[in-house]
Amino acid sequence: MRGFAVPNEEQPRTAWLYQEFMTMRAEWMLLLFLSASGAAHASATRGFDVLHYDVALIPDIAGKQVAGTQAIQLRSEIAALTEVVLDSGKLKVSAISVQGRPQHFAQHEGKLQITLDHPLKRDAVATLQLTYTGSPPYGLEFAPERDEVYTIFSTSQWMPSVDAPDERATLRLSVTLPAGLLATGTGRALPVSTLADGRVEHRWQLDTPMPGYVYGFAAGRYQQAQARHAGIALRFLSAERSPEQLQAIFARTGGMLDFFAARAGLPYRGDYQQALVANTIGQEMAGLSLMSEAYGQEVLDDPDHVALIAHEAAHQWWGNRVTCAGWEHFWLNEAFANFMTAAYLQQSQGEAAYQAQVQRWRSRLEALRAKGADHALVYDSWSAPTGDDRAVVYQKGAYVLHLLRAELGEEVFWRGIRDYTRHHDGQSVVTADFQRAMEKSAGRSLQPFFAQWVYSAAP
Ligand SMILES: [Zn+2]
Repeated sequence: MRGFAVPNEEQPRTAWLYQEFMTMRAEWMLLLFLSASGAAHASATRGFDVLHYDVALIPDIAGKQVAGTQAIQLRSEIAALTEVVLDSGKLKVSAISVQGRPQHFAQHEGKLQITLDHPLKRDAVATLQLTYTGSPPYGLEFAPERDEVYTIFSTSQWMPSVDAPDERATLRLSVTLPAGLLATGTGRALPVSTLADGRVEHRWQLDTPMPGYVYGFAAGRYQQAQARHAGIALRFLSAERSPEQLQAIFARTGGMLDFFAARAGLPYRGDYQQALVANTIGQEMAGLSLMSEAYGQEVLDDPDHVALIAHEAAHQWWGNRVTCAGWEHFWLNEAFANFMTAAYLQQSQGEAAYQAQVQRWRSRLEALRAKGADHALVYDSWSAPTGDDRAVVYQKGAYVLHLLRAELGEEVFWRGIRDYTRHHDGQSVVTADFQRAMEKSAGRSLQPFFAQWVYSAAP
C-alpha cells in the first residue's frame, strides 16, 4: 500500500493554494481507494445487483477498531449465481450465513469471495448476514483526542460492499457510540435510542439507491448550528467552532444549492449537512459533506474562500446523482465539480473569480504538456495514479468544460448540461452520454471537439 504523502508540488504557499491543497489531498486519498478497488474493472459484470445494505457498526474510537454486523440483500442477474464477490478492504469477516445456514467464504487482497450453498436463480433475492471486525488503515478515521470517528471514501474498509460506482443500493446505517456525541450520516436521520448500558445508537435510512462510495457518517463531541433555506434543512457541525462561527462559515450554502439546482435543472433533494472534522479531506457523501477544521478557519479568515464548500455541494448532483459508471469516466464527477464551482464563483464573486480558476487550469495543463504528462480525460490506468494523472481529470477536465462552454455559447451549453443532468438523474453514465446530450443541444456533431480534448492528449 502506498502512503498518504502529498506530492511536494501540492504543498500550500498561499491561503488559496492551501485550499487547493486540501482538495488535492482528499483526491489523493480517493485515488488510493480507486487503485485499491480495481478501478479499471469497476463495471465488469458481477452476476448480481445489491438492492440494500443494512449495517450496524460499533466503532471503538480509542482502540481505532470497528465491529459490524450486516445484512446484504442482493438479486441474481444470472441463471445460477453461486459466487458473490464483494470488496472488504482489510476487514476480517468471521461469519456469513443465508437463512441461518453458514456459507463458505474466503478473503484475499481486499476481496471477499462467498460461495453460496444453494445457487440463486435469475431474479431471485437472497439476504447474506455478515459479522466482521477490523482496524481500517484508511476509509474510517479515528481522532480519539476529539472523541471523533468519520468515514473517508473507502466504504469497503468499514462495511463489505461493492466499491464500483455503477452499483447503487439503498442503505440503513446504525452506529452505536458513547453518550454525549453528535452524529451525522447519509440519509434521513431516524430517532436515536439509548441502550441499557448508556451508549447511544444513531441510525439513518437512505431510501434512494446510491453508489457505496457516498455512504458515510461523522460523529464527535460537536457543536452544531442549523438553518433553513427554501425548504432545505441545513445543519453544520464542528468540534472547534461555535454555532455562530459555523453559521458564518457555511453562510453561502443555500445560495450554492440554488445555483447548482438551476444549472442541473433539478431541485436539491432532502436535507444537507456539513461537518468539519479533524484532518483535511473534502468528501462528498449523500446529503452530507465533510471538510476539515483547518479549512473552516480559512473561510472564517476570508469569507470568499468557499471553493471547497462549493465543490462538495456540486457533487450532490454531479457525482452522487449522476455518477460515472466506471472510474475511467471519473472526470464526469470531478471536472464537473471543479467547473461548477468556478461557475458559482463567477455568479457570486464576479468574472475575475471565474477567470482566475480558468487560468489556473490552463497553467496546469500547460505544465502537463511541457513534461509530456498530458493524456485523455477518459482514463483507465488508475493502478498507480500520479499527481499529474489527477490533474488531468480534475484541472484539465474543468478547462475542457470551459472550452466547450466557449465553443457552444451560454444558451446551448447550459441547456445541454441541464438535459444531461436531468436525463441521467439516479443513473451511472459514461462520457458518450454526456457527448450525446451536448450534441442534441447543439444540433450538430461534437465528435471533433471530443476527439481532440476528451479522448486524446491536448493538441
Ligand atoms: Zn471532488
